This record gives sequence, structure tokens and C-alpha cells, in this order.
Amino acid sequence: MMMGYKIRKSIDMVSDMDKLVSLCKRRGFIFPGSEIYGGLANSWDYGPVGVELKNNIKQAWWKRFVGLRSDMVGIDAALMMNPKVWEASGHVDNFTDPLADCKKCHQRFRADMISDEHAKTCGGELTEAKLFNLMFKTHLGPVEDASAVVYLRPETAQAMFADFKNVVDSSRVRIPFGIAQIGKAFRNEITPGNFIFRTREFEQMEIEYFIKEDRWQEHFEYWLNQMKEWMKFCGLSEKNLHFYEIPDGERAHYSKRTVDIEYSFPFGMKELYGIAYRTDFDLKRHQEYSGKDLRYTDPQTQEKYLPHVIEPTFGVDRTLLAVLSEHFYEEEDRIVLKLPTPLAPYKTAVFPLLANKPQLVEKAQELLSDLSTTYPIAWDDRGNIGKRYYAQDEIGTPFCITVDFETLDTDTVTVRDRDSMKQERIAIHELKEYLKEKL
Ligand SMILES: [Zn+2]
Repeated sequence: MMMGYKIRKSIDMVSDMDKLVSLCKRRGFIFPGSEIYGGLANSWDYGPVGVELKNNIKQAWWKRFVGLRSDMVGIDAALMMNPKVWEASGHVDNFTDPLADCKKCHQRFRADMISDEHAKTCGGELTEAKLFNLMFKTHLGPVEDASAVVYLRPETAQAMFADFKNVVDSSRVRIPFGIAQIGKAFRNEITPGNFIFRTREFEQMEIEYFIKEDRWQEHFEYWLNQMKEWMKFCGLSEKNLHFYEIPDGERAHYSKRTVDIEYSFPFGMKELYGIAYRTDFDLKRHQEYSGKDLRYTDPQTQEKYLPHVIEPTFGVDRTLLAVLSEHFYEEEDRIVLKLPTPLAPYKTAVFPLLANKPQLVEKAQELLSDLSTTYPIAWDDRGNIGKRYYAQDEIGTPFCITVDFETLDTDTVTVRDRDSMKQERIAIHELKEYLKEKL
């Protein structure tokens, strides 16, 4: 969790961004939320291919950081937690923005970023800044009084601390080990924007990695490298990444090192991920506020201590936006998403050359049901082949397979490669081997 903000100027989306947003809607990646009712400010829905891409990102992350590792376990905690969690974490007191109201036009602004635009067009006098908490507040149960107040979690991280004792007591984990979680978080941002970059409802992938204090530097370096490997997997090129070492005095008071990882989005260099060494701040606070002993007992030496923590944190929606931006290509007569194959919503598309020839359709459907047992496969029998290629290029499908008249004679199909646009004739019995090699 990153507390506090860097001052950011708002930048108009450049035309590249407009093209991306339009592609997302046209092909079913991302729609404006509740659009038939005029939408809801900065809420977005993932459509049929968007949800596949998002799931592929989350599954790849989980497999890499939990499934394939013996030092990591996962949890899936409730969105609403005991409000004391947020007192202990500091969110009730500190997760605030200073806000000021304009006395003339009654608009509300972040006091640290009043726009020049407003000074020019309205010029009204501003009230003194008041602190506004960014947590969404609601009431648990039928009585709407102060004792029933709960918050929607503003980050997933605190659950890993609140559940720390239960995880240690119920599993075989030994220091060093980590707890991971993927899930939604909510922040009542004053100035959301830039498509899915900053929204009030978003999804996080977070890790709390518990260590002995004297080893923090090596664990920090290790996790920073793990994050770099993950970004490489997502195909994010080094030239678009920037590692910002937060200087002394700007970090949260308990953190001894924090690195913001920024990505060059079409609307500017903005925060993508972060990694922080949080010392034993969180467990100490939760021990104090809960009155429970949260110390870890070393099984060999019986030494009892509060572990320290390295926290790598990843935004799901920002990952998806960076992946789309990075792999969006506008070529002569087409737009193509050159997505890494593990992330592509469909790995292959199958077409019958003509939709009104039953032998072709039957043969293509056979192929579809056979390949579908191994990969997610798209089907398209509308329009001409060129249009179908165009549609698959725009959703990033690596290969298109066409069943044509030659197929009926020679049992071969045309396989067309998304990136090179080259076509090859492949025997159906060799197709699985061919795709296995390429995918
Ligand atoms: Zn005004």
C-alpha cells in the first residue's frame, strides 16, 4: 500500500489513448460502467475478452508467486473488516486528502492541486482546506449509527497482517515466507481518471513477505528483481519502465526503503507498481490494537520476534492497461495487439472459409471441439476472411486456422500468424504439435 500522493498535473489523453479506449469498447475489452444509464463517473466494466485477459494476468501472477513456490501461501479475505484494522493501520487518521471548496461555484478541489483552469475561468475564493478520508464508509446491519460503521478495504494488504497468526498456526510456513492476495479495493479518489488507471474501485495483487530484520536488504533486492522478471513476462520493455527510489523524508515514516515502479503510459510516466520495506510496523500496530501476541517462534531456537516485511504490490488494472499500451500497434491497414501468448484471451481462432457450406462448417467445428480441450479458441464464420483476421488481430489472437475446400481433399488447413501475417499449410494431424511449439 502506498500512502500519500505525488503531485500530478492532469494531462489530457493524447490521441493514442483515444484509439486504445475505442478499441477496448469496440472489441469487448472494457466498457463504460452502467452506460445505458449515462454511466457512473469513472467506473468501467470488463467485457468478454477483457475478463479473459484480466484472468490470464491474475492466474499467471498467482502461479508464479504462489503456485510454483514453497515459501508462499495465499488468502482471500473479506472486503469489509473490523474497523479497528483501519485504526491500527493508520488509515482512519492518515488516509486523507486536503480538500477546499470554491465559495463561488461550489466545486471541490484537492487543496494541493487547484487547477490554473479554475483560477482563470471562475476565480472564486476557496475555503480553508479540510481533510477528507478516502475510505468508503458504510453501515453493517440495519442501524445506521456510529457503532455500525465499516469501511470497504482501501487495500488488500492489511488482511495479510490481520490473518498472520492464523496462517502461521494453520500451515507449515517458516520465516522467510510470504502471504499473497488478489482482490478488490476501494478508494474515494477526488480526481480519478485516465481510463482504468485511477478508479475508485480497483483490483490489487499484493504480497507481504515476512523476514528477519537483519536480512531486509537482500530480500528487498530479490523481490525487486522478481518484479522485473514479472514485467518481462508481461512484455513491458525496459525503455518504458522507470524505477523511482523514494528519497529520505518523502517515504512513510516507518519505511526504510521504497521504490515506485513507473510506466510510460500514453498519458505520461505514471506509477505502475511499488515495493516497500515496512519494517515490523504493521504487525506491531496490530499487536498493540488487538492485544494478541503476534510474535513468531523460531522452531529451532525458540526465539520469539515480530517479523519484518517486504511488500511488493501490483495493480491488476494498471497491469492490464500497461500490457494493452505496450502491445498496441497501428500498422498500414490494421490495428494489432501483439500480446504475449500466455496473456492472449484466445490462443487460436478457427474459421470455416464459407459459412454456407455445411462440409466446411462441420469440419471446422470438429477442429474447434478438438482444440478447445487444450486452448481457449475463438470461432468466427461471419463476413470474409480479411475481416475475421482484422477482428482477431484487434483482440490479440496469435493464430487463425481456416478450413477451406483444400482441407476436404488433403486434410490440411491454413494457419495464419498474427505478427508476421504469413500463412502456412499444415496437416491437421500435425496441428497440435505445431501449436504446442508456437504457443
Ligand atoms: Zn469556482
